[in-house]
Amino acid sequence: MSPTDAAGEQTPAATPSTPAPTPVPRASRAAPRRATAARPGLSGLPDGALEEWLAAHGEPAYRARQVRDALWRQNAQIADELKTLPAPLRNRLDEAFRIDTIVDDEVKVADGGLTEKALHTLRDGSLIESVLMHYPARGFAGPGRMVHRERNTLCISSQAGCAVGCPFCATGELGFGRDLETAEIVDQVRHAARRLAATGRHLTNVVFMGMGEPLLNLDRVLESVAILSDARLFALGARHVVVSTSGVVPGIRRLTELGPQFTLAISLHAARDPLRDVLVPLNRHWPVAQVVAAARDHARATGRRVSYEYVMISGVNDTELDADALAMLLRGDLAHVNLIPMNPVAHTPWQASPPERVAAFAARVRRGGVGVTIRANRGQDAGAACGQLAADRAGEPPAPAVAHRREEIVRQSEVALRGSRSAEGLPTDLEAAVRFGSRR
Ligand code: SAH
Ligand code: SF4
Repeated sequence: MSPTDAAGEQTPAATPSTPAPTPVPRASRAAPRRATAARPGLSGLPDGALEEWLAAHGEPAYRARQVRDALWRQNAQIADELKTLPAPLRNRLDEAFRIDTIVDDEVKVADGGLTEKALHTLRDGSLIESVLMHYPARGFAGPGRMVHRERNTLCISSQAGCAVGCPFCATGELGFGRDLETAEIVDQVRHAARRLAATGRHLTNVVFMGMGEPLLNLDRVLESVAILSDARLFALGARHVVVSTSGVVPGIRRLTELGPQFTLAISLHAARDPLRDVLVPLNRHWPVAQVVAAARDHARATGRRVSYEYVMISGVNDTELDADALAMLLRGDLAHVNLIPMNPVAHTPWQASPPERVAAFAARVRRGGVGVTIRANRGQDAGAACGQLAADRAGEPPAPAVAHRREEIVRQSEVALRGSRSAEGLPTDLEAAVRFGSRR
């Protein structure tokens, strides 16, 4: 990520350092922090590195295309699957690189086969998740013309765990583990593509809405997007990639300078600072107005509409006041709001807003002049929310700790619902992530 001070952003006045929220203790947290492997992942090599390595080992240049085809057309996971290469070269590649960076997959199917949720184990034991969502073709507009083509969307992770700590999110509750390497990000895509290929389908969209805050690992996310959209590799159109952020303002500004790379989504969840301070703790560092200003500039500069994600939490952020605040904040912008009923997670006292409340909220925001779509939740029967599978694997937290965490969330939100801004500082991990980003 770009360092927060590099983009010349105004940082809010220092807040008193009252203790930050304490995530529920578990047998094992998001991921052990260990040094990265000596052997780089083959699929994440920077442009030209493979060619250099091959030349240094006396191999002809065309071998690079053979390796790329094996990785991206056959989705090879072991050296033996680099079939077009001579055995000695396969072995040397295997010694120098990891052909695959995902050690193990556990795949759960939900929604009658339309959703596949995968828990991936990485080399150091870190657990991450990806979710594959199948959207069948819809409608018929004449011979061979579908209104909506079939889509297969993969939701991928950019970090193991997350430092932001949104209280409604299972990943946030796990805490921060580590940034993913570029190969670990793109190998989630190769694994899903391999599973899809077995049924004659292919991946059409990739969204960075799994575990982690992509803009706090921005360098690797940008490298991954470059790989995924490279015509020689995965060849996914940049318009088919969405990156979601909880509001890392310097990261958004950096993306604007780079020009359109992908669709930007902002996880807003509240239009008022007091409430957003609680729902998205990063708001204590970059308040709503700064986040929306950066997103607005991004939309203007790139001509691309920004999506705003808004998780609907019953009695917390779904009031008429919240709808009006949201409409007022985004009216006139090149923006669209997606309302997502909250997936239940164990450590929170909150629930999803009932469907009629979501519909009324949507109608009010629409009347206020802002486009809105109500999104269905996917994969509830496969471990509900993002981070839930990893949380389950980490072990059931002790009941008193859950009760304590719930009380803490209720206390914080009571203050917020009265309209006062949080006086709490950033949690230590988040402070470090904001300060150093992917330079750690
Ligand atoms: N950290 C980034 C990207 C990953 S989270 C971000 O927050 O934008 C992807 C989306 O899932 C976010 O919009 C997040 O708010 C949402 N999400 C997290 N927990 C959820 C839950 N329990 N129910 C519904 N959506 C959830
Ligand atoms: Fe992190 Fe996004 Fe979850 Fe918030 S919603 S804790 S930013 S993964």
